[in-house]
Amino acid sequence: MGRFPRWISSSDNESVLQRCLKIVRSSLALTATRQAANSHSVEQHATAQQSLPHQPRNEAPKSNADTQVILLSGDAGCGMSALTHQLCRRLCRQGINALELPEIPVHPNPTLVDGLVEALGLPPQMMAGQKAQIESIYNATFKLRDIQVTIVNDVQSYMRRPYSNASPVVTQIAGFIHSGISKFVFLSATTRCCDALAEGLQVEGITYSRIHVQRMPFGANYIGYVTDAVERLTGISELPGYLPLELYQLSDGLIGMTMSHIRCLVAPCSKTRRSDTPQNKTWFGGFCRPADDETFSSWLMRNAFNKGVWWITGRELDDCRQAARLYRGRDVDRISDLIAAGKGGKVLSKALGIPTLAGTFELQDTRVFPSDYLLAYCPQCLADDVACGRLPSWRKAWRQYGYCVCDKHEMPVTLSVLQHPNPDPFFRAWEAFTEYVQSPLFRLKRRLVSGTLSNEKLQMRERKVGLLILRVQSWILNEVLTGSCPHLSSIGARFLLNVLLHEPIHKGSPGGFARAYFDSRDLAHVFYTSNRNSGDLHGHYLTASPRQTLTAYLLIGIAYDVIKRPEAAFLQSVLGVTRAAFPTCRSEVSHAAVTIFTPEHWAAITRTAKRDLSFEDILQLDWIFKHESKRK
Ligand SMILES: [Zn+2]
Repeated sequence: MGRFPRWISSSDNESVLQRCLKIVRSSLALTATRQAANSHSVEQHATAQQSLPHQPRNEAPKSNADTQVILLSGDAGCGMSALTHQLCRRLCRQGINALELPEIPVHPNPTLVDGLVEALGLPPQMMAGQKAQIESIYNATFKLRDIQVTIVNDVQSYMRRPYSNASPVVTQIAGFIHSGISKFVFLSATTRCCDALAEGLQVEGITYSRIHVQRMPFGANYIGYVTDAVERLTGISELPGYLPLELYQLSDGLIGMTMSHIRCLVAPCSKTRRSDTPQNKTWFGGFCRPADDETFSSWLMRNAFNKGVWWITGRELDDCRQAARLYRGRDVDRISDLIAAGKGGKVLSKALGIPTLAGTFELQDTRVFPSDYLLAYCPQCLADDVACGRLPSWRKAWRQYGYCVCDKHEMPVTLSVLQHPNPDPFFRAWEAFTEYVQSPLFRLKRRLVSGTLSNEKLQMRERKVGLLILRVQSWILNEVLTGSCPHLSSIGARFLLNVLLHEPIHKGSPGGFARAYFDSRDLAHVFYTSNRNSGDLHGHYLTASPRQTLTAYLLIGIAYDVIKRPEAAFLQSVLGVTRAAFPTCRSEVSHAAVTIFTPEHWAAITRTAKRDLSFEDILQLDWIFKHESKRK
């Protein structure tokens, strides 16, 4: 089986290849125009659909633009499989997203969906929850990948005997095309199998082109092809005169068969391949490249589905899992954690020996991250991972305190919180991705703004709110909390955050204004220590969700004029539709922040502040202390 079938170009199979490429390209072009027309005007599209002439099938029409499936058949040894690989490679080179399903799937009795899952390197079904759920997750994943052409070499591997019954495969192909999972499907199979597939496709109303790979007749073309193939393999251009005819008789004009005879004749395969195929430069042979800012555990997990290295990663993952269990399910990205847990030392000492590894994943990092924050993630980053062809990866930036909006996208994205309270630390990114694609957020793409306007308009508003949050977030993280803001010290800022994000008080208050503002169930699984003393103002902000935290940011931004008056009015108009009015100036912020507490509680908070804060800090925060809670 030629992995590098460059010899195709001098054989007759090249014309078959060109014909296939042409069909695929014109079909994809038609799909693209239809989609453009569709988005332009739905009505126009409907009439256009009706007036499209029904293409008579199986007649080799002049324009193949309507074709959705190519059925390639040929006799054993005709070089079909090399042709299929080459087709995939050329499509990819032309910027078409083509995906080749494995010829020998690992799954017993595989379906085409199993093939897709394996080809994309997704966690297999048995590892990922219930059947109905996993199907919708897989579908969402396939669509994000935007597969244009699915290539199945040897369709028989995905069918049961007798191959005359093609209906399960045909139903799946129809499903791929109708749901947009794959715009085009290329199938190669034996002639009999193709007969059955053709019949099924006709019943489903799917337009296909059928192409048969012919044997080459003996003549100048055949001699030219043999000469060329030998020269490519050996560099020798002079052939013994009898050789082409002898090869022809041995292979009966079959191109693939001729090729294997030539290979046997000149040298073993492995020797002929070495020189002209430079090894792809990978990040440690066989391992996948870490995503930017990825955690060590996430990268290790992604390699667990990487066939080339799973015998190594499987063992190391197990070691790290043991360690994580001892460490109450936390990240095991830090060497100190692992050594403290007394496990995994072997794994990491090995990892440490590789400077790139320790450096890339910052395994020496000794910072401690708030444990609730270990569950925050940006859903769009995960979706982008899938779209660029890797498994979702967990990022380090998400666990830093105060990072509640991801700035890596055109539309700023509010971080979500994984609802699974004790996820396997290695499986977290996939878990988060599955939660996301099943949530309304996946469809709506917004979490802060709601209303009766069109989704597009609401998204524009969401974006504007997001940009304001980003402005305050970077001011708080880069200036205030680092102590370089003259108007607000980092201690003062933490005090404000603790007030605005105060945990709920039993029978007293729903918590700070920012915590209660969105009816947020983001952190349903975080149980507050409700036996706090009323004056305990320590660390309330650490248990707030990203959405609650960003609300606090906005309020502080308004109070310190980082958000201007008209912008605050805009926030009030979009956020206050179904909720309490959003404050638009400093005095409204302090009124809202204070009156949510009972007078006794507020008095206790004030006392604590006077005890814990310095005179300068209190002076800076004077505006909030001026208020008194008049709530009864
Ligand atoms: Zn992101």
